[in-house]
Amino acid sequence: MRKIGGKILFSATDLVNFLGCRHCSWLDLKDLEQPLEKAEDDAEAILLKEKGLEHERAYVERLREQGLAVAEIPQGLSIEERVRATEAEMAGGADVIYQAALLGEPWHGYADFLRRVPASSNLGPWSYEVVDAKLAHTPRPHHVMQLCVYSDLLARIQGREPHSMHLVLGDGREAAFRSSGFAHYCANARRRFERFVYGPPAESYPEPCRLCDTCRWRDRCGAQWETDDHLTLVANIQRSQIRKLNDAGIATVRALAQMPARSPVRKLAPETLARLRAQAGLQVQKRETGENVYELLGTQPGRGFQRLPRPDDGDLFFDIEGDPLYPDGLEYLFGFYYFEDGEPVFKPFWAHDHDAERTAFQGLMDFITRELERHPDAHIYHYNHYEATAIKRLASRYGTREAAVDDLLRRGKLVDLFKVVREAIRVSEPRYTLKNLETFYMKKREGEVKTAAESIVVYERWRQTRDPALLDEIRSYNEADCRSTRGLRDWLLTLRP
Ligand code: SF4
Repeated sequence: MRKIGGKILFSATDLVNFLGCRHCSWLDLKDLEQPLEKAEDDAEAILLKEKGLEHERAYVERLREQGLAVAEIPQGLSIEERVRATEAEMAGGADVIYQAALLGEPWHGYADFLRRVPASSNLGPWSYEVVDAKLAHTPRPHHVMQLCVYSDLLARIQGREPHSMHLVLGDGREAAFRSSGFAHYCANARRRFERFVYGPPAESYPEPCRLCDTCRWRDRCGAQWETDDHLTLVANIQRSQIRKLNDAGIATVRALAQMPARSPVRKLAPETLARLRAQAGLQVQKRETGENVYELLGTQPGRGFQRLPRPDDGDLFFDIEGDPLYPDGLEYLFGFYYFEDGEPVFKPFWAHDHDAERTAFQGLMDFITRELERHPDAHIYHYNHYEATAIKRLASRYGTREAAVDDLLRRGKLVDLFKVVREAIRVSEPRYTLKNLETFYMKKREGEVKTAAESIVVYERWRQTRDPALLDEIRSYNEADCRSTRGLRDWLLTLRP
């Protein structure tokens, strides 16, 4: 959303944001009147932008290799100048126009590419279709919505609706969509958006949604939820549950914690309500006393603590670092922490391309097989499903060590401690990540890399610079995760009834 000469111009991103969160559009409007403070792009967002640009550049190269002339619209110009330059290239029949600027008030947009097709239009015996480059490997609804906005703007210029619109995905594949199949839905969405922005409500309140993590208003909304003690602060609560609690007059964490036991909430199952109330109670207790608290949950056969095998000297603690930005994804570090003759050992398997990934995967499966032969009662512990999913995927991708993976699964050798935690205990933390749980069993972590997202950023930096110190940082981070998994397992053993 931007204001030019007193007029407001909307973009495809504004529409996508509106469909995800009206409060976002409401704040965008306020920001036009009086600039508001925005969250800064973090290192991950900056990296994604760089990767997006690389992806576009690689596509330009591919087009040139096919013998197509690619006209690039310069970026440092005003929007009117860029629009004029784009329209001139369209009139001249350029094969491909890169960074095309499109305007049809009150909408505007910058399509990554316009590709010439042999369908006649106002321009002559040719017209254009929109091609957008996305890092994702599968098309998402908001990508299609963006394409629709650009295609509509394009139709106004060339006097005919483009037959198709296209995405170039992160793995280089192209996906095509028939414009007419989405035009009605998109026009409808635009009308709803315009109604909202031309007559916005006087007040608006942020409701957490999937856009929050990357939204430029996230700091502002987060601060408001803290101030208001909003129910979104309760661990593992869902939006629908918040709505039902709000309908029952419960709007804060404290109010939920203080609800009398057995008071009903419409359409919320009593056991769900009891869980949320108990969770809120623990969080309020920590807030007031500063102490970490936990509760043990009732046991059910085969669940919770019963998932914990008897500890063994040969137990392995396993964690993977993956890079989703590498073409087709790459698991670049597989770390194991274990004890050998009473001494702790950390064993990393590195892979910096797909050949090495295959070799590393074979190496680690052979390592696991050997260790389990030496210690038949040992298990491999990890936190959450990523590790188990990754080894199944790698066995099938490379068609190797499939029997060994099947054997691990069949014998129940992989132990997901997240399942144990979720079913066995309740803690006073607002989230149930490994890092949150560490407050119960280890000191605060040190080291440069502190989150999985940061490790991806550091790894991508290493790919550019080859500075070994960066790999050392990632190694330390992975080792800390493996040690923490062991710490968690040991803590859970002390709690087991
Ligand atoms: S942070 Fe979330 S709730 Fe706030 S404006 Fe952004 S998307 Fe909406």
